[in-house]
Amino acid sequence: SSLMAKSKFEYVKQYETEEKLLPNCWIVVRIDGKGFHKFSCKHTFTKPNDTRALHLMNKAAATVMQEYKDIVLSYGVSDEYSFILRKETALYNRRKDKLMTYLNSLFTSSYVYFWKDYFHDVKLKYPPSFDSRVVLYPSNEELRDYLNWRQADCHINNLYNTTFWALVLKSGLTNIEAEQKLSGTVSSDKNEILLSEFGINYNNEPELFKKGTILLRKKIKHPVHEKQRHVIYPFHEDLIQDSFWKKNTNILKG
Ligand code: ATP
Ligand code: ATP
Ligand code: MG
Ligand code: MG
Ligand code: MG
Ligand code: MG
Repeated sequence: SSLMAKSKFEYVKQYETEEKLLPNCWIVVRIDGKGFHKFSCKHTFTKPNDTRALHLMNKAAATVMQEYKDIVLSYGVSDEYSFILRKETALYNRRKDKLMTYLNSLFTSSYVYFWKDYFHDVKLKYPPSFDSRVVLYPSNEELRDYLNWRQADCHINNLYNTTFWALVLKSGLTNIEAEQKLSGTVSSDKNEILLSEFGINYNNEPELFKKGTILLRKKIKHPVHEKQRHVIYPFHEDLIQDSFWKKNTNILKG
């Protein structure tokens, strides 16, 4: 009778389910590019590290952080980004679907939206997509170990890729030959190949490549009228030792 009357079809709404994320746990949303090995080739990314692509990833992640203030830290490397939401967040009543899909789709649309600012005349050939997952960590220790895991992965992959591409691009090895040469080697072997064959001291490689990117929200005061505002800054620092956490005590305190 009234305008608000429910249709006889509305019962299907009851089939919807929703998952709420456990209270009092760190929420990590990690996104990762789908098939970026191919995507990076199709768009002529510089190997092993295309700086334009890394800065575009950082821009898309900063856009997400700007919108969702409950993200206290983001960490990115290669085609992935992890967003850490504060333990107490009540965003969307901690509904998993909402959090995961909003963060993912804003990241993805921003990647496309800002593409031309970083790649200029390189045309986007097809729409990229990203997967996402949500992981909960009950303690600070586990959250730190999560970040340690991602940053250690960044280091291992970057050392491998730097050596691999030096062998291919500078020594003219085929991909298969380079792969064979590196199979079974440990870190010190790769450091040695880089130094003796290419004069590259791995320690002098850019921190952006070796450490990935940490995005933090920092308060800054306008120099004249003292009005505070928040700005998102990139850092390329070690997360595994304590020094970063001693400088940024507010993050884990919440
Ligand atoms: P999946 O869909 O399973 O994630 P994938 O091809 O995206 O597959 P990943 O393990 O995510 O595989 O690896 C991403 C790949 O994208 C890297 O191995 C590298 O080839 C490429 N890539 C990502 N970012 C860059 C970059 N900034 N510069 C050069 N290559 C990059
Ligand atoms: P929420 O974030 O909760 O989804 P919402 O504002 O998106 O909020 P919806 O219930 O999804 O609310 O409704 C979408 C609204 O978007 C419509 O009510 C209408 O105002 C507007 N809208 C969507 N598509 C069109 C369209 N093609 N033409 C005009 N308005 C549209
Ligand atoms: Mg993957
Ligand atoms: Mg990927
Ligand atoms: Mg990846
Ligand atoms: Mg809507």
